[in-house]
Amino acid sequence: MRAMLKGIAASDGVVCGQAYRLVEPNLNVERRSITNLDSELNRFHQALEAAVSDIETIKTRATKNLGADSAQVFSAHIAMLQDPELIAAVEANIKDKRINAESALADVATGYETTLQGLTDNPYMQERITDLHDVTKRLTGHLLGITLPDLALVDHPVVVVTHDLVPSDTVSVNTKYILGFITDVGGRTSHSSILARNLNLPAVVGTQNATEQIPDGGTVILNGTRGNVIVQPTVDELAAARRDMQERVANQQRLATLRHHETTSKDGVGVMLAANIGTASDLPSVIENGAEAIGLMRTEFLYMDADQLPTEDEQFNVYRQVVQSMAPRPVVIRTLDIGGDKPLPYLKTKHEDNPFMGERAIRQSLAHQDIFRSQLRALLRASAFGHLRIMFPMIATLDEFRQAKAIYDDERSKLTTAQVPMGKVKVGMMVEVPAAAMLADRFAQEVDFMSVGTNDLIGYTMAADRTNQDVAYLYQPYHPAILRLVDRIIHAGHAAGIPVAMCGEMAGDPIAVPLLLGMGLDEFSMSAGAVLKTRELISQLNAHDLQSLVETALNSASTSQEVITMVQAAVPGVLQK
Ligand code: PEP
Ligand code: MG
Repeated sequence: MRAMLKGIAASDGVVCGQAYRLVEPNLNVERRSITNLDSELNRFHQALEAAVSDIETIKTRATKNLGADSAQVFSAHIAMLQDPELIAAVEANIKDKRINAESALADVATGYETTLQGLTDNPYMQERITDLHDVTKRLTGHLLGITLPDLALVDHPVVVVTHDLVPSDTVSVNTKYILGFITDVGGRTSHSSILARNLNLPAVVGTQNATEQIPDGGTVILNGTRGNVIVQPTVDELAAARRDMQERVANQQRLATLRHHETTSKDGVGVMLAANIGTASDLPSVIENGAEAIGLMRTEFLYMDADQLPTEDEQFNVYRQVVQSMAPRPVVIRTLDIGGDKPLPYLKTKHEDNPFMGERAIRQSLAHQDIFRSQLRALLRASAFGHLRIMFPMIATLDEFRQAKAIYDDERSKLTTAQVPMGKVKVGMMVEVPAAAMLADRFAQEVDFMSVGTNDLIGYTMAADRTNQDVAYLYQPYHPAILRLVDRIIHAGHAAGIPVAMCGEMAGDPIAVPLLLGMGLDEFSMSAGAVLKTRELISQLNAHDLQSLVETALNSASTSQEVITMVQAAVPGVLQK
């Protein structure tokens, strides 16, 4: 039956296709006695083969996307499935107890787990428990006739429907077949949305119950620009969606002609248009979309894609690859910003009732300096290969910045003594805590640059969780309170002679761009997919004329809607997100 689901427009574009539910299926096992022993043993071996073949496919994709090291875990899973001892134990169980293969497997797996749990001090054994769970689940699935969903196994075009999107899901994404994402939870600036935009795939998040409403294989139209999903659409709706898709392709072809252009307004004011990335695998999209720099690399994805802390060398290799590929263009790499909606499960941190207000980002780095120092060393070593800038996230007080900078200076001087080659590095901060925005003039005396993190600045200023769809109405980038803070930061930076960037999503928002250009923002950094649209928009704007728009918005507007109306009057045809 046709249904319309409403959600949050997380990543632009319209697609239609078959739904692929990335939802863990019910794998409850029923214990049955068997009569035909040979056929049960046969069933077990067929399931083993199917499970190994799945994991081979997942491994091949992970190797392609992430490199052989990261795919090693899958080799371990295959080895476990081919372990003669495990196979013999399940076979013996089937034969001795005359029970179905899935129950025999469950008994053996429980026995193994109890043994492994006895070795709790051994982290290696703890990891084996996780591996054992993964392979048992996949094998049980095949015995029950269910293939566990996994994006790496997708071999035809689909729209993915899932509760939430996590970085490890996107590792296996084959963009050739994944048309877009629909999730139950999340907001426009939650990290699942940012991941979708990094992949340049349309997405609707925060639908509340898409995973319940959309059947596997059902036809859907996903409208990531309007934020809705039509399930089992009518013929007319499908035709309209196909027209939208064609229009999008035509738009992209037009925008592609701007790829090698500089970014200048109609009256000749030049700005830097940069892209945000999560991992080195986003680099091709940065180049393809003509970004002039990387304005934010979110290093936490490097930590979240692994099941243990990446070593200094592993980090160095990734940072060097990014810096070197972009050289001589600048790359801003942000130190670890975990916490909030990006926990690191393997760090086993304390439970926090309010993680967005907790030990997040720089607070965590200062509290766990070994992790911070290792990241800084990796960054400093990578600085020899291009134009690197380092930025600290979530700075609230000058003391925090000074402490972080002192640790940076200390690591730098140790590497200098060890004669490790390094480049010149500017050290800046993200302004995303309202206290730092209010005191931007003082910070500007000590930092080399500032980058406004509006995703958090809006959340903290409006006291609205950026991932909670119920308070999404408060998440207002054009609210005069936000505009005043942003304007204040830009002025403070310029008064001190340092550049001011913005790397929150607001930097690529078509209503915000005219205001930011009028305020004199130096660098706009956004998801790669938004770069060319923003370049086109800026080329149509008259920066000097926009100053009076900014003044009216700052001094006369009381609501977001008033600001939107003012911008639309000044820049006809500009659309709200
Ligand atoms: C921000 O807060 O605006 C930002 C760019 O950082 P993140 O979205 O990673 O918190
Ligand atoms: Mg932030």
